[in-house]
Amino acid sequence: MRQKYGQNFLTDNNIAHSIVNIADLKKNDRILEIGPGKGILTKIIQPRVKWLTAVEIDTKLYRQLSYYFSFLNIKNIKIINKDFLKYDLMSMNSNTIVKNFNLNNNFKVISNLPYTIGTAIIQKILPSKNWTTSIFMLQKEVAQRITAQPYSKNYGYISIFASYYATCEILFDVSPKCFNPSPKVISSIVKLTNKKAKHPESIFFNFIKHVFNMRRKIISNGLSSFENLEKKHAINILKSCGLNPFLRPDNLSILDFMNLTKEIQRYRICRAQNLFF
Ligand code: SAM
Repeated sequence: MRQKYGQNFLTDNNIAHSIVNIADLKKNDRILEIGPGKGILTKIIQPRVKWLTAVEIDTKLYRQLSYYFSFLNIKNIKIINKDFLKYDLMSMNSNTIVKNFNLNNNFKVISNLPYTIGTAIIQKILPSKNWTTSIFMLQKEVAQRITAQPYSKNYGYISIFASYYATCEILFDVSPKCFNPSPKVISSIVKLTNKKAKHPESIFFNFIKHVFNMRRKIISNGLSSFENLEKKHAINILKSCGLNPFLRPDNLSILDFMNLTKEIQRYRICRAQNLFF
């Protein structure tokens, strides 16, 4: 058992069908599956869609699954033996073997993720082009962080990142008994729908990451350390966005962070031009 790859295989066929059904698959759909493992989801998805690309890190599982589909002479699937986190998604555009899976076409993502890399995969998929719906099985705590709202203890960088790019809903929980071996945690099925938001300026996520790294501190302290500013200037910037300088990062909505980072940029311009602030 390769526990380093988070290999808890789903064994409950009803749950597997429920997960795939959420994706509302159509004959013309192109699907990306991350970590197909022994193929419980793969075998349900493949007959229902135009094209399925599945990326599996484990060479033994990759060989077994490739053999299964090639033995049956099934042509609408490509299994790739790669670490998805290191995989250059753009190479799917140029690779002729996976020409049916082109990032210039819309695609859906379905994945029972290894728990340890769930948030990393989400950060890779969500900003990429042309995905429409993603169905992820995640550790329940991670699902709760992704869908958390301001003023809750789970609200943080990944909640804002996910809700910037997608609408996020937790659909149902899956008991550890549905896997072999059983994980120590409960899983949740999460559905993400692409909002097609354009990428924000880098300051937006950099600032949010910075202030949540010191989430117990008031926002004026986070801002003054981020911009290397005197406290009174940080307070002025916050006040001009209508924000109380004594709030903590988890009291700010995504819109507050958008307004605030715009104001920081305006301040930078004034400072560069030596204008009175
Ligand atoms: N989808 C299968 C299922 O539902 O039974 C397997 C799920 S298991 C939790 C996670 C799978 O992801 C394993 O097959 C594992 O080898 C694979 N995996 C782990 N890390 C990966 C990575 N970085 N890139 C691609 N696959 C990975």
